[in-house]
Amino acid sequence: MEDRISSANLTRLGLGLSEFKLIERYFTSRTVRREDVLLGIGDDAALLQLLPDHSVVSAIKTLVEDVHFDRGANAQFIGHRVLASALSRLAAAGATPAWVTLSLALPEIDEAWLRHFSAGLTELARRYPLQLVGGDTVRGPLSITVVASGFVPEGQALQRSGAQAGDLIYVTGTLGEGGLAVLAERGMIHLSPRLRTKCQARLDQPEPRVAEGQVLRHLATAATDLPNGLVEGLSDLANASAVGATLYLAELPLLPETSSWLPAVGGRSFALHAGGDYELCFTVPAEQQAEAEAALANTRSGCTWVGTVEAAPGLRCVLEDGSLSALSFR
Ligand code: ADP
Ligand code: MG
Repeated sequence: MEDRISSANLTRLGLGLSEFKLIERYFTSRTVRREDVLLGIGDDAALLQLLPDHSVVSAIKTLVEDVHFDRGANAQFIGHRVLASALSRLAAAGATPAWVTLSLALPEIDEAWLRHFSAGLTELARRYPLQLVGGDTVRGPLSITVVASGFVPEGQALQRSGAQAGDLIYVTGTLGEGGLAVLAERGMIHLSPRLRTKCQARLDQPEPRVAEGQVLRHLATAATDLPNGLVEGLSDLANASAVGATLYLAELPLLPETSSWLPAVGGRSFALHAGGDYELCFTVPAEQQAEAEAALANTRSGCTWVGTVEAAPGLRCVLEDGSLSALSFR
């Protein structure tokens, strides 16, 4: 079928025909056409073909101007970030991403903004590849909602619940760069231009750990993503699993060049709470340690052991001097 939006619908949108053509130009044909999309943009609802014995996994993310980004913020990064943070949720479930829908509230039609926003969102979508299969466009204060959906073989989706006492705790990639970028943006620290660029990229164009999540389907007992940092993410995982955990501060994976900034930000514990890195935290039974480490070694981010799941509720952290400190549990 043709990917067109009927002119009968235009009046109800409150957007003029020429304005509406812009939406068509920037969103309708900018992502791949997947064979499992029987009906995409243009009808009342998208029709998606699910493989036999698979479950749909769906996650949503909203970004609102003046709440999640400032007026005048780079629209390309907003497009990337809204989709990346929804995909990060699918990654934590071990899902294969496939489809995305987009709700846009726009105060006006700003063609340059739409062009940049679309570039950020659709460039990330094409990588997986995800197809944009529908959406809604309305007038209103600038706000963007994305629903990313994918699939997983029945019974294999990862959840926050499932961690058992004795399991090992891992994180993907490195922690703290997004947090350093936030402090640099606020002028609280001054990073070298090279490090500033690297940290800023983690914040502006996060890489959802999609391949890593899929590898973990058979291996992890529980998983979550870390948009608000390790302690918050692990607290949620531990709560959902009805367990506690001990983290080892000296084991947290930091980018080597960030370590010189640690004294200025309160030491390694900065990386316990810093958000914006979109890494995964997951738990693995001890018997599966070697297999999990080998499987993650073949992914882009790799993984690092950071702690142990325990029956006693609450989060604790072994500091660098060997002393034990309680971490606040939400
Ligand atoms: P109306 O609100 O007039 O009923 P719709 O919301 O049904 O019009 O939009 C027409 C078609 O365009 C639908 O298939 C819808 O999914 C799609 N669409 C509208 N806005 C977007 C958008 N921002 N991104 C992707 N598809 C969109
Ligand atoms: Mg509509």
